Amino acid sequence: MVGMLMTERKFVKEIKMDKNWYPMIGHARCVGDLYCVEFCSPAVFEEKSGKPAVVSNENCVEFYRGCQKVACESDVITYFGEEV
Ligand code: SF4
Repeated sequence: MVGMLMTERKFVKEIKMDKNWYPMIGHARCVGDLYCVEFCSPAVFEEKSGKPAVVSNENCVEFYRGCQKVACESDVITYFGEEV
């Protein structure tokens, strides 16, 4: 019984930790202006070698598209979890 409860708790924790929404950057067309890094207050992005990298996808606010719609003038941000 105790073993079963532990398994259920672990399962619930894994579900909550599962991130279904976060940005993806089309690096081939990214111009490296880093507006997205500057814009994102939850610090999902970090600059790496002059380009943005998604380093904290768990901080991304689900279904919020601020970096795509406000920050990125090159329209190269899409989201893992969006319907295509
Ligand atoms: S705002 Fe867009 S073009 Fe600029 S660095 Fe970020 S992803 Fe690249």
